[in-house]
Amino acid sequence: MIHLRKPKIVILGAGYGGLLTTVRLQKSLGVNEADIVLVNKNPYHYETTWLHEASAGTMHHDRVRYDIKDVVDRHKVDFIQDSVVEVKTEEKVVVLENGEVSYDYLVIALGGEPETFGIQGLKEYAFSITNINSARQIREHIEYQFAQYGTDVEKKEERLTIVVGGAGFTGIEFLGELGNRMPELCKDYDIDFHKVKIICVEAAPMVLPGFDPELVKYAVSHLEKKGVEFRIGTAIKECTPNGIIVAKGEDEVEEIKAGTVVWAAGVRGNSVIEKSGIEAMRGRVKVNPDLRVPGHDEMFIIGDCSLIINEEINRPYPPTAQIAMQQAELTAKNLTALVRNSEELGTFTPDIKGTVCSLGEDDAIGMVFGKKLFGTKASFMKKMIDNRALYMIGGPSLVVKKGKFKFI
Ligand code: FAD
Ligand code: NAD
Repeated sequence: MIHLRKPKIVILGAGYGGLLTTVRLQKSLGVNEADIVLVNKNPYHYETTWLHEASAGTMHHDRVRYDIKDVVDRHKVDFIQDSVVEVKTEEKVVVLENGEVSYDYLVIALGGEPETFGIQGLKEYAFSITNINSARQIREHIEYQFAQYGTDVEKKEERLTIVVGGAGFTGIEFLGELGNRMPELCKDYDIDFHKVKIICVEAAPMVLPGFDPELVKYAVSHLEKKGVEFRIGTAIKECTPNGIIVAKGEDEVEEIKAGTVVWAAGVRGNSVIEKSGIEAMRGRVKVNPDLRVPGHDEMFIIGDCSLIINEEINRPYPPTAQIAMQQAELTAKNLTALVRNSEELGTFTPDIKGTVCSLGEDDAIGMVFGKKLFGTKASFMKKMIDNRALYMIGGPSLVVKKGKFKFI
């Protein structure tokens, strides 16, 4: 594409993918080279990877977020606080709740949404760890149930039961935080700790399916010590105002009564993708190696809205912040090349350094550069990963302001 005027780059979403693309572009492009517009629902960015902490109440939600204006140069980037409704790809226009914005190049980085697989009642009665509002709601709902228990004349024991659907990384990290929070919460609400039930229901035959069995064993035994009960090989079939219905054997079902149900059993791409008529699988778009959408040379999709196949196992890479940030770096490079009229674009190869799963603030398991880590070492590594993400977007000052430094 030869540019006769300054091209306009519009980035949708200020999460890991969108915000890193923006800060990289504001460094690589001069003000005379392109107009850069960032659109995000909120005036703040939140660390999606810390939301389980805010949800359990072990970290205040303000610690999890920071103002976009703290990291974006307003002389170089025009920030629009609005919600994206759809993209009119033929007209190259993004429809917002309160207006429209046209583009020459578009980056869609709107993140994921809970995947409910059509299971009845989940949308109505279960909570999910998705953003600041939902995290705050989970924390307050659990507290409300505990407070209500105290005032109930006829005690409903299920108010003190929390069901977590899914023992993937999100479910396990949330359980770790819940386990740590519970003694303090019980003390605050004068509740006998032994009356509280935290039940994790997982459809697969193991916790953290596919992860290293020795690490999984460590996680399960540590979470059990904190009071978590695992129901493995048990699929949630329905969610009701009173709890959940699970499959029991071939054709039997069982009701588990619970005052709180948190659904943490997977994500899909943002619904804006499907609303915009872009071909997708569960809201995720199989992008070209240069991260552009097939048939749309002006459109990049990154993060949880994108789908990248791991050729070794012929399955999609799980959507992670690690991948979203690597994609952001390449997207900024490729956009810079396009603005400078170069057709030589880089291709994306994920560089998976490992996975670390926290089990509360003080414990974790991980596989990093092929090495197994447990306990304090893994927990230290997890905090370093969290701090690195801050550093990549906001440099040392953001790490000082928001970083995690409690290492023991
Ligand atoms: P996000 O970072 O989620 O950002 C999306 C942005 O788009 C948000 O700012 C949102 O407000 C905005 N937005 C959404 N819809 C609209 C709209 N309609 N209009 C305007 N703005 C909108 N991955 C790891 O690699 N390591 C981890 O340790 C890890 N831990 C996790 C822990 C939890 C509890 C969860 C839920 C996920 C975790 N993940 C982790 C996965 C990781 O968070 C995601 O893969 C990553 O956030 C995806 O980045 P993204 O840029 O696509 O979306
Ligand atoms: P996931 O898809 O990784 O795990 C979902 C779990 O729910 C699976 O174990 C699945 O078997 C189970 N499940 C599905 N349907 C069920 C049902 N009906 N009843 C009971 N269980 C059911 O999803 P997630 O944990 O939400 O993670 C989402 C993404 O975020 C993943 O890519 C993950 O790797 C990433 N993540 C990474 C970290 C980390 O690296 N520390 C932490 C959190 C999330």
